Formats: sequence, C-alpha cells, structure tokens
Amino acid sequence: MFNNTEDSKTKLSEFGEFGLIDHLTKHFVIQHNSTLKSIGDDAAVLEHKNPIVVTTDLLVEGIHFDLSYMPLKHLGYKAVMVNLSDVYAMNAEATQITVSISCSNRFTVEALEELYAGIQLAAQNYKVDVIGGDTTSAVKGISISITAIGTAPKEKITYRSGAKPNDLVLVSGDLGSAFMGLKVLEREKEVFKVNPNNQPDLEKYTYLVERQLKPEARKDIPELLEQLEVLPTAMIDISDGLSSELIHICKNSSVGANLFEDKLPIDPALISVCEEFELDSTTVVLNGGEDYELLFTINQNDYDKIKGNPNLSVIGHITEASEGIHLVTRANTKLPIQAMGWNSMDKEK
Ligand SMILES: [Mg+2]
Repeated sequence: MFNNTEDSKTKLSEFGEFGLIDHLTKHFVIQHNSTLKSIGDDAAVLEHKNPIVVTTDLLVEGIHFDLSYMPLKHLGYKAVMVNLSDVYAMNAEATQITVSISCSNRFTVEALEELYAGIQLAAQNYKVDVIGGDTTSAVKGISISITAIGTAPKEKITYRSGAKPNDLVLVSGDLGSAFMGLKVLEREKEVFKVNPNNQPDLEKYTYLVERQLKPEARKDIPELLEQLEVLPTAMIDISDGLSSELIHICKNSSVGANLFEDKLPIDPALISVCEEFELDSTTVVLNGGEDYELLFTINQNDYDKIKGNPNLSVIGHITEASEGIHLVTRANTKLPIQAMGWNSMDKEK
C-alpha cells in the first residue's frame, strides 16, 4: 500500500487541458435541477431559490495528506468530504462542487483517474453535482482545491454565533478515531521504511484507519434535525478537534461552556489503541482532528426531541462567558479547555 510510483502509464502532457477535464469527468452525472449548466461552457450556471452557502478548502501534499498511505481514490473522496462537512455545519444541503487540481508530471493520467473516481463516488453518495474546475501542472506534488455550494432557507442557516447560556452542547458520532487512525498509519509507515517487504496488518485497526482515510461528512444530521423539528442555535464541524471547535462557538457566541468527561462519545476501538500508544483517550477525544462530526448547541426545551437518539450525544451545556470553558472530569474537577489542535498533541507528551 505504500507504493504509488507509476512509471509506464499515460503522461498528462498526452492530453490537452480541455481533453483531460473532459476525460476525467465524462462519467459524472448531474442530479440537481438547480444545475442549469455544468462543465462545458465558460462558467457553470446555477439557480437556487434559497440563500446559497459557499465554502472552499485547499489540500496540499505533504501538509494535509501523505500519499505513502493515502490512496488517491481515498484522497479524492476525503477532499470532497472536508468541504461538504462545512456546508452541513451551516445546517444546509450541499448541491454542487468545483474541483481544481495542480500536479507535477510525477502523476499520470491513470493516477488522476483514481483521484477522480474517489471524487465521483463522493459526489454520487452525497448527491452533489461536479460543475466545474481546472487542472494544471505544478513543479512539485499535488494540490486539490474544492469549492462546495449549498443552500438552505434563510431561517434554517445556523451560524457559530447563536449559542445561549443553558443551551445543551451536542456532538454527532464518536470522536478521536481519525486521529488514532493517523497514528497507526504513521507507525506502520516507519515500520515499512525499515523493512519494505513487511506489509502492514491493519485489520485490528480497520475502524480507526477508515475514519482517517475515508471520513464521511454528516449529511444525515441536518436532515435528522429537520425531521425532529430541532433548529440548532449554533453549529460547527469538527475538523481541528472538539476543544478548538467549542472555543470557536464560545467566542463567536460570547458564552462559556462546561463539557463532561463521562459524556464524551468514544468508540471502544479507540480506548484499546490509546492504551497501546500510551495516550490518554480523553485528550485524544478533545484534541484529535479530522473526525468531521458536527458540534452544535440546542435550546434545552428541545431536549426531549433528541433524547436517546443513537446518532447524538449531549456532552455539556453553555454558560455565561464569565464562567469560562471547562471540562468536568470523572473525578468532578474542573479543567480549563484550551485549543491544542491535533498537530500540537505530540509536543504535549
Ligand atoms: Mg468547518
């Protein structure tokens, strides 16, 4: 798996720029009536009745991903997820994306086909139209820039700024697994460097590695909340880690918060791998990034509507700003929550 080098494949220069985009997107299907014109003119044309949300994200090789353990198909899929997650975090429906790629001549047409296969799968699964983009050569490496477009009725769009004291703090899914998946992959890469014949056995870590390599954006959560007739007061997606996202909500809403350690959602697989790596699972859950779960707040009056839902965990409540942002531990002590972010976690040890 740690070998993406391809020598005898089709060079990118064998396609003209337009030929390449046409080639890579020829199997893409348009699914939304709001896409009036897709790829094939100077610009795409969209028609949305409601306000439009737009978000963009740039992923750079060596900074955001490592191709020695990230297959290109997964990279394409994940690049779409990262962007859709931001649309869902506005409580909106994602409808269209554009995809721009720059890459060096180390990449072949076949490699880009793999990447686009991942993009296509994501677009299909999440029902978004790929409406444009660009492909250009680069001196070194590969970068992917995706812009996602979504829509929602004005009154439904949820900002980071609406949390009020006494609101409940909720999170979807479980946290920390993507970070530990990355730890496992990094460790296996080191083993592989020493002994290239030793293919890693990742079976024990399947869930964690999948969370890292093939994250799923929570399209279902805005839909679920609509069904339950719950309008979140504030929402954000968890890309950098629970702590830093909670701090964003608190700063933007001018409030404080208490989280409860015993309420944090942890997959059993995470606990055993944290023990293996001698990491504290609460620290990982608070600071591990890239889970792409949604963190949001709701009015206490809506508690009965979400109570017991297996997709959601109530992990704390909002307080006055003057009370600060704290974790109440299992031992009932209050620790201030700081934004560590997943990149700085190694330095903490
Ligand atoms: Mg975000």
